[in-house]
Amino acid sequence: MEITVVILKPSAVQRGIMGEVISRFERKGIQIVGMKMLKLTDEVLNEHYSHLAEKPFFGRIKASMQACPVVVLALRGLDAVSAVRKLTGVTNGRDALPGTIRGDYCLSVQENIVHASDSPESARAELRRFFADDEVFDYSYHPVPYLYANDEF
Ligand code: UDP
Ligand code: MG
Repeated sequence: MEITVVILKPSAVQRGIMGEVISRFERKGIQIVGMKMLKLTDEVLNEHYSHLAEKPFFGRIKASMQACPVVVLALRGLDAVSAVRKLTGVTNGRDALPGTIRGDYCLSVQENIVHASDSPESARAELRRFFADDEVFDYSYHPVPYLYANDEF
């Protein structure tokens, strides 16, 4: 099983849709193994969005992520990284397909509701970035036999 990281961005917090977005992951059968609210620092964002550091809009992306506290989630499931990216939809909310989170809730590239890890390597780095070991919980999740065949994982 894989753990991926999602951030409910200020656009989700301020628009009052945190619960709806979290429900989508729960309904899919993804297990929430960590969840907390925090304020993103400059230092963390420089690392988290280092692939965008040279972009002219880096400052506005950071300001947008620091507009208010965010909620970080650690989500566990089979192939959770790619499954969650599919639920999230493409970066630009105007292009994201209806049925995806970005496709259903936004019209923006920047104000696009959620962050989701884009590869197993980034998911591992992001889990370390946002969660201490004792903030990620290993607990039995009863729907598992109804979610996967026993030879799927
Ligand atoms: N972003 C933006 N303009 C761009 C590219 C990215 O405002 O041209 C923002 C947007 O909020 C996006 C985040 O920067 O979600 C991180 O960009 P990335 O390319 O990693 O997209 P994601 O993985 O979030 O789909
Ligand atoms: Mg990304």
